Amino acid sequence: MPILSIPAKYMPRANLLAGKTILVTGAGDGIGRSAALCYARYGATVLLLGRTGSKLEAVYDEIENGGGAKPDIIEMDLSTALEDSYANLAASLGKEFSCLDGILHNAALLGDRRPIANAMYATWLEVMQVNVNAQFLLTRCLLPLLHLAPAASIVMTSSTVGRTGKAYWGAYAVSKFATEGFMQVLASELEHTSRIRVNSLNPRATNTAMRRAAYPAETPTNNPAPQNIMPAYLFLMGDDSAGVTGRAFDVR
Ligand code: NDP
Repeated sequence: MPILSIPAKYMPRANLLAGKTILVTGAGDGIGRSAALCYARYGATVLLLGRTGSKLEAVYDEIENGGGAKPDIIEMDLSTALEDSYANLAASLGKEFSCLDGILHNAALLGDRRPIANAMYATWLEVMQVNVNAQFLLTRCLLPLLHLAPAASIVMTSSTVGRTGKAYWGAYAVSKFATEGFMQVLASELEHTSRIRVNSLNPRATNTAMRRAAYPAETPTNNPAPQNIMPAYLFLMGDDSAGVTGRAFDVR
């Protein structure tokens, strides 16, 4: 599948996401934190899902202090959440919101970087649970709310090692291949039967805790800060990407 980029010099309008409700996973740190703040700045009500309450509260405060719409905090550990928790979440969001306009599946674990021959099964399972199974469970339980939106967008976070296999990237790389597969299957199912579009986005090297853990010898500031890659996140979440589905994007 060809890898696409967003339109050159894309300039989102200031109210791109006004009136939309968007859920971001891993919203407490890194790229997810920047995306949540950015979506709020462009008018969305943001549902902040993550496992560390204090980080989510800091993002909440930053959105409120910036004059954004009041966000929601969903404290949930995707490595341990059971199927019932997702059903409960969908039920409570259904009471609070008339529809859901978007999900940014962003939370992920890096796991161990080591040869498959030495990979730990427990780590493998945890990476798959957060990076793949949680995306499935969350998407499935929220599809009814997404169907109620005039035009909804699901963005799944990919990686370069999820498009071409690379030694020692183990479960993380395999989970990102699975993410691409999930995106394609879901997009194909929804293409002619709904107004929900589904695409994948590879942020590429970005200065976050995950990148610094994966490449400790790098100078972190040589990579863009999360806030500098937001145009692609806005393009795919907002109506400017209406009609685009089943495609794999890079931020640049
Ligand atoms: P970070 O590690 O900086 O942030 C990951 C976020 O996911 C954190 O908020 C973390 O929560 C959350 N998270 C992790 N595990 C769980 C869990 N079990 N339950 C709920 N939330 C969880 O990563 P990045 O911002 O760098 O990565 C964001 C996405 O981009 C990921 O999908 C990653 O694979 C992808 N990516 C990143 C690249 C990069 O260079 N940074 C390159 C290619 C892809 P907490 O803060 O509480 O730990």
